[in-house]
Amino acid sequence: MDNKYSFEEIVSHLKTSGFVYQGSEIYGGLSNSWDFGILGSFLKKNIKDLWWKKFIETSPYNVGIDSALLMNTKTWEASGHLKGFADSMVDCKECKSRFRADQLIEQATGLSAEGKTSEEMDKMIEDNNVVCPNCGKHNFTNARPFNLMFKTYIGTLEDAKSVVYLRPETAQGIFVNFANVARTSRKKLPFGIGQIGKSFRNEITPGNFIFRVREFEQMELEFFCKPGTDLDWYKYWVDYCYDFVKKLGINEEKLRIRPHSKEELAFYSKGTSDIEYAFPFTDWGEVWGIADRTDYDLKKHSDYSGKELSYLDPETNEKYIPYCVEPSVGVERLFLMICCDAYDKEKIGDNDERIVMHMHPAVAPVKACICPLSKKLSEPATALFNDLCKKFHCEYDEAGSIGKRYRRNDAIGTPFCITYDFDSLEDQCVTLRDRDTMEQKRLPISEVKDYIKKALEF
Ligand code: ATP
Repeated sequence: MDNKYSFEEIVSHLKTSGFVYQGSEIYGGLSNSWDFGILGSFLKKNIKDLWWKKFIETSPYNVGIDSALLMNTKTWEASGHLKGFADSMVDCKECKSRFRADQLIEQATGLSAEGKTSEEMDKMIEDNNVVCPNCGKHNFTNARPFNLMFKTYIGTLEDAKSVVYLRPETAQGIFVNFANVARTSRKKLPFGIGQIGKSFRNEITPGNFIFRVREFEQMELEFFCKPGTDLDWYKYWVDYCYDFVKKLGINEEKLRIRPHSKEELAFYSKGTSDIEYAFPFTDWGEVWGIADRTDYDLKKHSDYSGKELSYLDPETNEKYIPYCVEPSVGVERLFLMICCDAYDKEKIGDNDERIVMHMHPAVAPVKACICPLSKKLSEPATALFNDLCKKFHCEYDEAGSIGKRYRRNDAIGTPFCITYDFDSLEDQCVTLRDRDTMEQKRLPISEVKDYIKKALEF
C-alpha cells in the first residue's frame, strides 16, 4: 500500500516531540527498549482508559481484574508455554545474523510457515534455496526452538526450585481466577474477565520501533460462554474490536480483518481473526487477535491444578466447562497505528507547512492549550487553565507568537487551542481554534468545558 510518509519520518517525529524516548539513553540505550515520554505516557493512558471503558465499565457482560505478573510455574506448564512457547530461529553461518525461521521463509518465498516444525522449516529453506537477507548466502544452521519466556528467580536462592517466569501474556492470570470471579461477581454465563498489564517476551527479532518489543502492555478479555454459542460470540467480539478501531477514526482502507487459514489455526481454536493495519514498514501488521479458544485453557488448568473449573448452569442444571473467546491487543500496537494514521504534513499558504497529528481527541495527549494573546493577560488565562485542567489534560503556553504555538500543538495532536485576548476581559468569550480545520470560533468561557467534552466523546 502506498504510504505518504516514510516510517523513519514518523518515528523521528515521535522521538523528537516527546512521545517516545530511547530506553536507558544516557547509557547508550538498551536495544529495542523504549520509554514513553511526556506525551506518549498520556497517549498510552488514554488508549487504556478507552479500552477499560468500552470493554469493562460499559459492557453489560464484563468485569475487570489485575493479576500478579509472577505466577506459580505450574501455570506455564498447564498453559503449554513452558514446552511450546517457542519460535524457531536460524543463524546465518556466514554473517552470523539471526532470524526467526518462519519470518525468513515468509519474506523470501511468500509461503506461510506458521505452525510448522523446525524440521519442516529446514526443508522449506532448502527446497526454496532461501538466502540470507543480510549477506545473500545460503548457509544456515538448522532451525531450533527458542523459548520466549524470561526466566528469573524468586527468593534468595538461584536454584531450579526458585525459577519463575515473567508472564508472556496476561490471559493466564485471568484463567486461574475464573472460579474466584464466578464466586465473587454474581455474574452468570456469558461473562468476560478483562485486564490490562505488562507482558514480556524474549523476542528473537524485535524491531520496527515499538511494534515488536520485549516488554509491552496487553489488554486482554477472556469471554466465557456456553459451548455451542462460542462462534456467535466470536463474531460479536471481532465486530466489537473492529468497531473500536474504526471509532478511533483510523483510515479504513488501511484496515482489514484477516481470518486465519486452517493450517494457521491453533489445534484447539475453532476460529481466529486478526485485525491488521497497513503500517508503513510492512504490507499488513497484526494489531488485534481475536480467537475462539474453546475450553482448552480452563480444561488444562483444571487438569493441572486438580480444581473444579466447570460451571453449573442455574437454568438448565447442566454442568460444563465454558468455552472462551479471547480478544487480545497490545497497547503499543494501537499506539503505533494511531500515530502512523494521524501523521500528516500540510502546506499552508505559499511557503509555510505544518505537521499535524489528526488523532481522535479522546486519545490526544493534550486536549487544549490555553494561549493568552499577551503576557498581560496571564492572570485571567491562568484562571481558565486552572479550571479546565481539573477536567481535561491541558497546557498553558504564553511564549512566542500565536502562530508558533498553534504549530506546536498541531504537531502533537492537541485538538483545541484557546486564545484569551483583550476582548475576553470584556465579553467573557475566548477563541477556540480547531486543529483539523484551523477554523476559529468565538465561544463564551462558560461553554468551553461542554464543547471540549463533546469532542472527546467516543
Ligand atoms: P506475533 O505473531 O506478531 O508474534 P502473536 O500472534 O504471538 O504476535 P499474541 O500472542 O496473539 O501475538 O498477542 C496478542 C497481541 O499482543 C498481539 O495482537 C499484539 O497486539 C500484542 N503483542 C504480541 N507480541 C508483542 C510484542 N512483542 N510487542 C508488542 N506487542 C505485542
